[in-house]
Amino acid sequence: MITIATKAEMHAHTAAARAAGRRIGLVPTMGAFHAGHHALMRAAREACDEVVVSLFVNPAQFDEASDLAAYPRSEEQDAAEAAGLGVDVLFAPSPEEVYPDGFATSVRVAGLSDVLEGAERGPGHFAGVCTVVAKLFNVVAPDVAYFGQKDAQQVAVLRRMVADLDLPVALEIVPTVREPDGLALSSRNVRLDAGERERAVALSRGLRAAEAAIGEGERDAARLRAAARSAMAPHGVEPEYLALVDPDSFQPVHTVNGRVLVAVAARVGSTRLIDNALVQTEGGDPTKAPTMTKEP
Ligand code: AMP
Repeated sequence: MITIATKAEMHAHTAAARAAGRRIGLVPTMGAFHAGHHALMRAAREACDEVVVSLFVNPAQFDEASDLAAYPRSEEQDAAEAAGLGVDVLFAPSPEEVYPDGFATSVRVAGLSDVLEGAERGPGHFAGVCTVVAKLFNVVAPDVAYFGQKDAQQVAVLRRMVADLDLPVALEIVPTVREPDGLALSSRNVRLDAGERERAVALSRGLRAAEAAIGEGERDAARLRAAARSAMAPHGVEPEYLALVDPDSFQPVHTVNGRVLVAVAARVGSTRLIDNALVQTEGGDPTKAPTMTKEP
């Protein structure tokens, strides 16, 4: 594995790979790797000839400076893990390389970026994500990019951006990797102390309760939310939001019919965690988005 720190070198590297007929896969990350990141890298390794993992803690998507400063970093360990998984290139640019003096452009997906995570984390969060991902797509020019279902709203926002801007990249979405007790893996989990780590299971318990109620025939969103909240309450965890939404538009669902995303965010101690479950009430695979139609 080689490590590249400049956009020019990165671009030249993948241009040469493409000229040689190699299929290029990109896994964008903010580092502090765990088994969720590993799953994305494995999926890319399996399907692509040249696997690029970007490691960039993107200041533009943090609304609080303290959150950015506290974000876990373990670059040497990350490099060793990526190399062990057969990654070809670790692209680890500096903030100045990504955002040189005078940088003034932002990519914003309206509507979708303003609800749930967008509302909680501020309007700049998804604009920060979209801007850096659009830049990574231009610098690396991958055939396919890998993202985790763990960040379901990020997936919806990026799908919209790729469709709206006609970006020539396919998105592959990898299912959420969990601890044995159900907690979704997250770089932020390292901040939980032992008691918080136990209580953190509340999020997945709430989601499982909603799923189970749907399985038993409940279709009313208010009652499903109540079922999820009562499964969380014994753990002493109160959700910031617990919503049933359309997985593509993130519009609220009042009566479940077809694909629905149950999304939850909660603070456990001072650590903010998110999780979600995609549920399909009729036949079909809930992870497959229907073909996107452009709005007039
Ligand atoms: P991050 O480094 O947190 O920005 O995450 C990089 C990528 O890994 C994103 O596409 C995330 O959605 C994905 N990811 C994070 N946690 C998980 C998980 N538990 N399972 C699967 N993918 C994940």
